[in-house]
Amino acid sequence: MIDMRCYFTHPEYQNCVNIFKAKFTENKCDDYWSGFTALQQNVSNNKCPICEVELTNTPNKTHTATLDHFRPKDQDMYPNLKCKPENYILMCSLCNITYKKNDFPLLDILQKATNAKEVAETNNEQPLLFNPTEKNPLDFFELAFRQTAQGGILELKRKQGIPKDSYEYKICETMIKTFGLGYCESYPHPNDNAKVCRIEILTKHYNTFVEFAKEIKKQDQKSLALFLKDKNRIEELKKYGFFQFIVKKQFNYDSSIF
Ligand SMILES: [Zn+2]
Repeated sequence: MIDMRCYFTHPEYQNCVNIFKAKFTENKCDDYWSGFTALQQNVSNNKCPICEVELTNTPNKTHTATLDHFRPKDQDMYPNLKCKPENYILMCSLCNITYKKNDFPLLDILQKATNAKEVAETNNEQPLLFNPTEKNPLDFFELAFRQTAQGGILELKRKQGIPKDSYEYKICETMIKTFGLGYCESYPHPNDNAKVCRIEILTKHYNTFVEFAKEIKKQDQKSLALFLKDKNRIEELKKYGFFQFIVKKQFNYDSSIF
């Protein structure tokens, strides 16, 4: 998951808003989202901020860069936030259309601000989905390297120390299940809405990061320095939010791996 909090203060953001607002009337903004998509792709190093897959601009692919309405624009959800740039978040089409869909669970449904005309009017809501333009993933999650029947996977886990039954705890659980990014050992989960784990993505991330995590774990400065000498490789790893988790040693593993 990628920390996107610098997005709203990006030098290009206000320019995008101005161009966007000059283009449409009333609530008919459907064709004018591309400026925000491109800017968010720039901020996320062209990764999906949720699952970190490499994005493409070719339409109708699994990993096409799409703009999701964090609060869904449907009539029974938040129809007046359809054209509000603060409500847009970049996702791959799989995260957006197959996993999140129109879900927007709240801690307390009675807080739901359906008639909100501005995003600020939803401030009393406590969404159970994590918005990477507002919150730091390192405050919520850690990485887990794990061996499964499908091979090594890298999945998201709730960060240790978050109290059970806290709001943050529920955000972690909801995010991981909604996007299929963890708890793979418990799928299929007969009493829950856990979705199929995304083995392809989880495996790819494992292969990308396992060697780096091993170097960090070894605490051998010489060996780490040698690893970091490969500048091209490190520059590639740095494009991922997962890189920060490993640098901060916010990861765990079972003993058969390291
Ligand atoms: Zn994604």
